[in-house]
Amino acid sequence: MTVHIGVIGTGMIGQDHIRRITDVVTGAEVVAVTDVDAERAKEAADRVGTRALPTGQDIIADPLVDAVVVTSWGPTHAEYVLASIEAGKYVFCEKPLATTAEDGLRILEAEQAFGKRLVQVGFMRRYDAGYRSMKRVIDSGEIGAPLLLHCVHRNATVPETYHSDMAVQDTAVHEIDIVRWLLDDEIVATQVIRPRKTSKRFEHLQDPQLMLFETASGVRIDLEVFVNCQYGYDIQCETVGETGTVRLPDPADVWVRRAARHGTTVLQDWRPRFAAAFDLEFVEWVASIRNGQLTGPSSWDGYAVSVISDATVESLHSGRVVSVQLKDRPAFYGG
Ligand code: NAP
Repeated sequence: MTVHIGVIGTGMIGQDHIRRITDVVTGAEVVAVTDVDAERAKEAADRVGTRALPTGQDIIADPLVDAVVVTSWGPTHAEYVLASIEAGKYVFCEKPLATTAEDGLRILEAEQAFGKRLVQVGFMRRYDAGYRSMKRVIDSGEIGAPLLLHCVHRNATVPETYHSDMAVQDTAVHEIDIVRWLLDDEIVATQVIRPRKTSKRFEHLQDPQLMLFETASGVRIDLEVFVNCQYGYDIQCETVGETGTVRLPDPADVWVRRAARHGTTVLQDWRPRFAAAFDLEFVEWVASIRNGQLTGPSSWDGYAVSVISDATVESLHSGRVVSVQLKDRPAFYGG
């Protein structure tokens, strides 16, 4: 069975997913695309020999479309996810699932009313080989109970349009999801500390930020978000357990010794760092649709990350510890 996919939003990541579904994933085919920019949609469709339809609603209603990929602008996601559930179609939604907690809850209710998981959210780090190995080590118990996580998220630079809240909403959301998944534990409190600002970028931007999270079982997580570190894209994570530690490997490259120095490259961009994870995310998503049972990040994860992200932005502005107010996790989502 081939999974026939319709893509809503043919911008940067939408085009990348269309290429991925066409060139990397077996058992799937892009059968229609759309974008508010009709010319952009047509160019994306022509590249893979498929159709461009006028609107996202046309994609969801199209009888040839079995599953929908939502890669449009964030505030449009909830509407397309809800319409896909109503049509009884699988939907892969890039983050954010919703930009308000209310919309997140509406999605949870609609999916439960349908009676089967249809929604997967694009938290692709769960498909990264390093994070998967780290989770295996934690779950095996070989480092004892986890006590602390030290995380770092650095970008070389960001454009002037990037503002302080985006350090949480666009950047830290990936760590928020991955630590919940690594620990199988929920974040219950959050705080942002504002260190001295770098002079290398914009006056309006609080950069770096130090985010502190606490989980229900008492694990403490510190996350440095520094999006103008100048030297490259650098993701680090170390879990400290009772009897040992486990940390992410650096991306593999050769080490060069010359002129009294010893060094390797630092990636400059997130795309090569997580390219293999994005590929595996789609391979597994399509396989799970073919098996009739989704296994990836759920709409509960999308909702929880949005609520934790909102609480973290609140702390960025107030400087106070903010407790996270999540609804009880429904049994439908393994609660
Ligand atoms: P982008 O390049 O701006 O692409 C979004 C596209 O959707 C644009 O072509 C936009 O058109 C179009 N669009 C906006 N509203 C639409 C609507 N109602 N119906 C159809 N098309 C619509 O943005 P992007 O970087 O690809 O990001 C897209 C989403 O993916 C964002 O939510 C982002 O957070 C997420 N993302 C996730 C990751 C990850 O690591 N998982 C990485 C990158 C992006 P206009 O430009 O004309 O508005």
